Amino acid sequence: MPELAEVEYFRKCWDSGLGKRVTEVRCHPAARVFRGMKTKELTVALTGSRLLSSDAHGKQMIFRFENATLGVHLGMTGELRCEGYGFDPGKHDHLVLRQKTRTLVFSDPRLFGRLLFHQGPADPDWWTAQAPSVLSKEFSQATLAAFLLRRQRAPIKSILLMQQAFPGVGNWMADEILWQARISPTTLGGKIRDVGALWKTIRSVCRNALRIIGTDGSDPPTDWLFSHRWGRGGFCPRCGLDLERSPIGGRTTCWCPRCQER
Ligand SMILES: [Zn+2]
Repeated sequence: MPELAEVEYFRKCWDSGLGKRVTEVRCHPAARVFRGMKTKELTVALTGSRLLSSDAHGKQMIFRFENATLGVHLGMTGELRCEGYGFDPGKHDHLVLRQKTRTLVFSDPRLFGRLLFHQGPADPDWWTAQAPSVLSKEFSQATLAAFLLRRQRAPIKSILLMQQAFPGVGNWMADEILWQARISPTTLGGKIRDVGALWKTIRSVCRNALRIIGTDGSDPPTDWLFSHRWGRGGFCPRCGLDLERSPIGGRTTCWCPRCQER
């Protein structure tokens, strides 16, 4: 599932269409990604409209056109691509925006993603009402400490997945943060000994993931847990011990039982 750094990478895939007009819109109106939306209005508004700007925040993206705003949430398997003008859309390409020399494509085989549409001069609520980024000034050590205090009995792994405090942090990033901070994923929110160190690690993992993955889709360095956590087996890149895996908060969690003692 795309997390904040992958979302930033996919946002940039449409960058070559900035400033350019959409000449044709094609979509699959019955696809679940359009739930609650009138696709005819979307088609009318975007046709002939120039793509002006885009932003990503957590797992949400916004694309501002002259006549309308498009929101994109990738869900589990969604992605954005830029193809050539003559591109022939496949069955999973649910929104296709043709421009003069390229085609901007949203595809989603499993349909857990969501597209949103808004008309009006200001950014819509689904964009402005989002929680502050963990890289913003609003996300301070004090706000983290207060959030943990209200969730003293929840495992820290489940807490880090709460989008109202950590927008864009998903399963692999939460595991990476806890591994780098040497905190066991089962540690309760009220038992975190050094909140300041956790706060710093949340920021550095997010900042570095955005810099590495968000720039061109590269993988993080091999001394991150990221490179060893997928599939079965694997060992801790710090101490060499076999990694452990278990569901915590409904998600398969990967950690090193030696470096991340409770
Ligand atoms: Zn280890």
